[in-house]
Amino acid sequence: MDLTKKELIYEGKAKKLYTTEDPKYLIVEYKDSFTAFNGQKKATMSGKGVLNNKISSRLFELLAKNGVESHFAGQIDDVHQLVRRVKIVPLEVIVRNITTGSLCKRLGVEEGMKLPRPLFEMCYKDDALGDPFIIEDHALLFGWATKEEIDKIKEISFKVNDILKDYFAGKGVVLVDFKLEFGKDSDGKLMLADEISPDTCRFWDSSTGDHLDKDRFRKDLGNVMAAYEEIWKRISE
Ligand code: 5GP
Repeated sequence: MDLTKKELIYEGKAKKLYTTEDPKYLIVEYKDSFTAFNGQKKATMSGKGVLNNKISSRLFELLAKNGVESHFAGQIDDVHQLVRRVKIVPLEVIVRNITTGSLCKRLGVEEGMKLPRPLFEMCYKDDALGDPFIIEDHALLFGWATKEEIDKIKEISFKVNDILKDYFAGKGVVLVDFKLEFGKDSDGKLMLADEISPDTCRFWDSSTGDHLDKDRFRKDLGNVMAAYEEIWKRISE
């Protein structure tokens, strides 16, 4: 297959999407840009795209080995992945193992509590609205997903959590929470999409509690790229 980029069809905050000669596949390019708080805070850090591409590729491979299908079809080079073309379901799914972030802000619950079982949440994927928190009925009534799709999304999300939580525990990293996105291919087949990286997960060092993820950028904690490097180092060892 010819892996050259044809036409730029989408440019998001962290990635660009290009068509290929095969209509069933796209090329994703990981950018060096950081954004937070719905695009209000921005920066560019050299090497970020390479790290997120490597980390995300490795994690999609790990999931595939454990029976979780995704749009990932292979890493092409430092910043490019080949992915199956899917239509993104307009939901941002969040799985949490430990309380922090918007959950604590929204509900006033204590930070850093280990939840007795994983918590599944959904947001409506809409930048203009700031990805608002929704319940399942909103998704059903407004046609963003069917009951069957939501059940499948939930099942895959918990499976991803089981796999990644154990995997990262073995690397001395606590998987605190993460965001997933799903898509449907031209046959209507639902699968995991987007990326899995320190941009989309919270990773805490098991022994020091250090944040090894995008919270370093969000909260101006410094050493942002060093944290991403550390995650890559742990998973590539
Ligand atoms: P929270 O809702 O606490 O802000 O985020 C929960 C988890 O989902 C965190 O791991 C966070 O990185 C991820 N997450 C939530 N919304 C977004 C988003 O719009 N973009 C990215 N990259 N990650 C998100």
